[in-house]
Amino acid sequence: MFNVERVAPAPASLNRNQYNTQDVIDILEPMFHGKCYLCEQDELTDPEIEHFDPHMGDVTKKYDWGNLYYSCGRCNSIKGTRHTNLLDCCDINIDVLRGVKCLLPSCPDSDIEVTTQLNTAQANNTVELLNRCYNEKNTPLRGVTRVVLMDKLFELHVEFQQYRLILKKKRHTPDEKALAKARLTEMVGAHYPFSVFWRWHVLSDTFLSQQLDDVIDF
Ligand SMILES: [Zn+2]
Repeated sequence: MFNVERVAPAPASLNRNQYNTQDVIDILEPMFHGKCYLCEQDELTDPEIEHFDPHMGDVTKKYDWGNLYYSCGRCNSIKGTRHTNLLDCCDINIDVLRGVKCLLPSCPDSDIEVTTQLNTAQANNTVELLNRCYNEKNTPLRGVTRVVLMDKLFELHVEFQQYRLILKKKRHTPDEKALAKARLTEMVGAHYPFSVFWRWHVLSDTFLSQQLDDVIDF
């Protein structure tokens, strides 16, 4: 999960009790960097407008600009109306990247590890939901979307490891090392797909933590 700054004012359609409209998408999609706010996939083929607090027919919640989030179809269907009282990525007072730790397994069929050190109901509820978003394959279609998700993650993890190797090995030139560090700096940014993983993979690695200590601020 990554922090989102909701700077834009509410799109006009919401005043007409419409939210699935062009003006909403035009603001929401770039504001979330084109990423699902839960799993952090980008280039979504099944984007949906998600109600952070389920509206359950409540018109105020349904057309409340502050309650509209950008998500993939998989995460939206898993969240449903059951998962509430979560860490809010749009709350500038909450560092959601620090709040929930995500680490990749060594094999794609194994579970992603989702944990928190915060002892709050919101953090625990978020861990429970993200654990399902990243790992659930309880129906045939969720099995398919989970494979797609893991393939995207593992592809970027290969790049991450290649940049790490360039920083580690003496045979690479200073220019190559500078470029590798710049690439890793991009990967830990909130705009990058699956940024929570790359940030925690740096923090869980003494060598990379030292290499990027001016980039990672905690
Ligand atoms: Zn998602």
